[in-house]
Amino acid sequence: MVSTRHDVAIVGGGLVGTSLAIALDLGGIDVALIEASPAGALPAVFDQRNLSFAEATVNALSALGVLQKLRTPTAPIRRIHVSRSGDFGRVRLDATTYGRDAFGQVVVARDFGQALEARLAETTHVTRYRPARFLGLGEGDDDARHVRIVDDTGERTIAARLLVAADGTRSAVRGALGIHAEEHDYGQTLFVARVRTERAPDGTAYERFGESGPTALLPRADRHFGVVHGVSDADADRVQALDDTAFLDRLQRAFGWRVGRFLTVGDRSRYAATSLWARELVLRRAVLVGNAAQTLHPIGAQGFNLGLRDALTLAELVAGQQDPGADALLSDHADRRREDRERTLAFSDGLARLTTNPGTLLRPLRSLGMLAADRLPILQGWLVGGAMGYRGSVPLLCRSVQQ
Ligand SMILES: Cc1cc2nc3c(=O)[nH]c(=O)nc-3n(C[C@H](O)[C@H](O)[C@H](O)COP(=O)(O)OP(=O)(O)OC[C@H]3O[C@@H](n4cnc5c(N)ncnc54)[C@H](O)[C@@H]3O)c2cc1C
Repeated sequence: MVSTRHDVAIVGGGLVGTSLAIALDLGGIDVALIEASPAGALPAVFDQRNLSFAEATVNALSALGVLQKLRTPTAPIRRIHVSRSGDFGRVRLDATTYGRDAFGQVVVARDFGQALEARLAETTHVTRYRPARFLGLGEGDDDARHVRIVDDTGERTIAARLLVAADGTRSAVRGALGIHAEEHDYGQTLFVARVRTERAPDGTAYERFGESGPTALLPRADRHFGVVHGVSDADADRVQALDDTAFLDRLQRAFGWRVGRFLTVGDRSRYAATSLWARELVLRRAVLVGNAAQTLHPIGAQGFNLGLRDALTLAELVAGQQDPGADALLSDHADRRREDRERTLAFSDGLARLTTNPGTLLRPLRSLGMLAADRLPILQGWLVGGAMGYRGSVPLLCRSVQQ
């Protein structure tokens, strides 16, 4: 028995699902947002990780009224500095060279979650099912997908003309639809923390590649850096067990002295570095967005930026249409997402493999790549395109402020 009917049912109220619900609400679309974590608590994904938002993302989140809800300031990335230990080459990019004040902004995921939640509370066309877990698909018909969920009151079925899988890397919806995904394990573990260094952030984001993995420092607005430190899986337990002093020493050795001495470190969280690529983006009355469609190695800081562009493209296509799940609309969506998805995956994967290849064989090539990128506009364009978030068919909202 179907209990309620909606135009669109989004499974997953994480970064991408919530952004999509807000965008659809602006277009007056009736949305069901199904999220497993309890009301009053942010989903676990809104943790202490630092999110670097590309310029395109900043534009879109401002247009959606989300960034205005942030209670803490964002930190601009004005310069990007990429280097490799043992190599002389380095790449330095300055936003002013590209006529910009900044490539993007850094936001703590937890603060962003609160801003999304505050904006979501203002929507008028979104019905929230929370805590409610996606169980599987019912039989459905030509006009709707039937979605089985379970909440405090038990199991029920809701019908939607379009089902959106925004339920992350281990997407149960993707599984229920029978869409195959290819996965790659980089054999790397990433430690994320807030660090204070002798020199306060000055708007520079650093990527440093070492033999055991990458170390990235993102400027934060609270005079700290957000650090991402990659180690091989074989070393992960040992690094996890290090006390703060030993961990800071390790960071110092991996990163060097560009920001002076590493002084303090906060709580560390740990993530496996994997990537995932769904073979199909759309099926009859169903679409995958965000991490459910593709999960990227975090080193390129592209995952949410790309997922938001999935969501905004879909919202743009659905606006003003009679049937949000029409075949032609969904195949348009898949076509429009192709280039951005492929190029962003290639960018993140290329960067990740560059950092995880331990042998010395590649070193001269990597070094050459760095030096060349410092000089060759085409390689710089590749990096800047990623940093700013304009690839392929760019959703309108991404261009709304600065372009
Ligand atoms: C260390 C780290 C740093 C990162 N840094 C950046 C960065 O700087 N810039 C950037 O753009 N990206 C970054 N990312 C990537 C970014 O975090 C992800 O791309 C983003 O979280 C994907 O959002 P999503 O909504 O698709 O999935 P998620 O955020 O994983 O959300 C999925 C949601 O679905 C819910 N859910 C799952 N299963 C069910 C179910 N059965 N029923 C109901 N609900 C369900 C979950 O509770 C969750 O809320 C980083 C990632 C990591 C790990």
